[in-house]
Amino acid sequence: MQFKAPRGTTDILPEERPYWRLLESTAERIAENFGYLRIDTPIFEDTGLFVKGVGDSTDIVEKETYTFKDRGGDSLTLRPEGTAPVCRSYLENGMNNLPQPVRLYYLVPNFRYERPQSGRYRAFHQFGVEVFGEVKPYVDAEVIEISWQFLSELGLNDLSLTLNSIGDKKCRPGYIDQLNEYYHLREKDICEDCSRRLANNPLRLLDCKVETCQPIIEGAPSSIEHLCPDCESHWEDLKSHISDIGIPFEIDNRLVRGLDYYSRTVYEIAPPIEGRTSVITGGGRYDGLIEQLGGPMTPGIGFGMGLERVIENLKRNEIKAEQNERDIVMVAHIGDNALRKATTLASQIRRHGGAAMVGPSRGLRSQLRYATSVGASHAVIIGDDEISTGAYKLRNLRKSDQSEATAEEILAFFSSSKD
Ligand SMILES: [Zn+2]
Ligand SMILES: [Zn+2]
Repeated sequence: MQFKAPRGTTDILPEERPYWRLLESTAERIAENFGYLRIDTPIFEDTGLFVKGVGDSTDIVEKETYTFKDRGGDSLTLRPEGTAPVCRSYLENGMNNLPQPVRLYYLVPNFRYERPQSGRYRAFHQFGVEVFGEVKPYVDAEVIEISWQFLSELGLNDLSLTLNSIGDKKCRPGYIDQLNEYYHLREKDICEDCSRRLANNPLRLLDCKVETCQPIIEGAPSSIEHLCPDCESHWEDLKSHISDIGIPFEIDNRLVRGLDYYSRTVYEIAPPIEGRTSVITGGGRYDGLIEQLGGPMTPGIGFGMGLERVIENLKRNEIKAEQNERDIVMVAHIGDNALRKATTLASQIRRHGGAAMVGPSRGLRSQLRYATSVGASHAVIIGDDEISTGAYKLRNLRKSDQSEATAEEILAFFSSSKD
């Protein structure tokens, strides 16, 4: 029997690596240029963290987590999203006692039992940031700018930013009453899912994708018309900051987050036309989450971005990630003595900071074919003649020219100091 990768998972093969190297290095550079520090949390956490921190009525926790009992009987869950673990770590490590705000970023694998589709996997990777301890909207704008700059530096320029404010604990209840009232009058016209949402999570009514619910959503009261004075000025300041940094945006009343600890800012970035199903990234404020997890009242905001989906967008836009063009030499050998010379030379080159590998134990022609297939830039050829004269053949595989050189010259040529 032959095993296959589990449904919804995929191998990142060597030929895909340039994309991943590009995304990871760009994410690290940009986040650190904004003053964010990297955090890595464990791949699994106490199940309760996600029940409390993501919400037990969400699809993620209801249907999508990989939850298991370990051998000690504890219930653990593979990380389905990045925010709750970072909040847990912020509290556990006393980062709330540091000067605020605390700015963190992460690059981590996540796991969700979802229906696999293009750009969406059950094991996927996320770039995300979280900021704790600042209520002012300049950090909201900053978080949005990080995700925007990341995507535009990768070459995804044709994107649109959508913004909304869903108010806070003070003004949202009043808004939700209005929304309930509006929907109760139209109860017979809404879809089955919406009937359920009307009972448990009315904000998510605005998120419905069903055709017949769209005209009802169009006419629904909007949260930004029901903001209290504090939320109103936060919203106005946010828009000014975003305009100041020169990012175009649209306001969309349908952009919501259903859970109580979300507040004020919600945003999404998507390619044009294709609609909300193709959203590349989104984020928002979660001023109540730290408190929900047992900490002191602490404002927070962040985004999460699936990197597989970013790569899919890069490929769709025919944006290529550059191959690493660094020199690497393959030392070919003909005969047993030559093999010993070859392993020694390769080892010396590597210890001098260069890159070298030994050719496979086959004929010369086959070794050179191998060199080309693994992307070697050069080949050194050692046989009995070369050993007796001390002059090895050095072939540049990219230019197909060949010269002779001693072991010392070759070592000098490939050691890291040569350029
Ligand atoms: Zn609906
Ligand atoms: Zn408010």
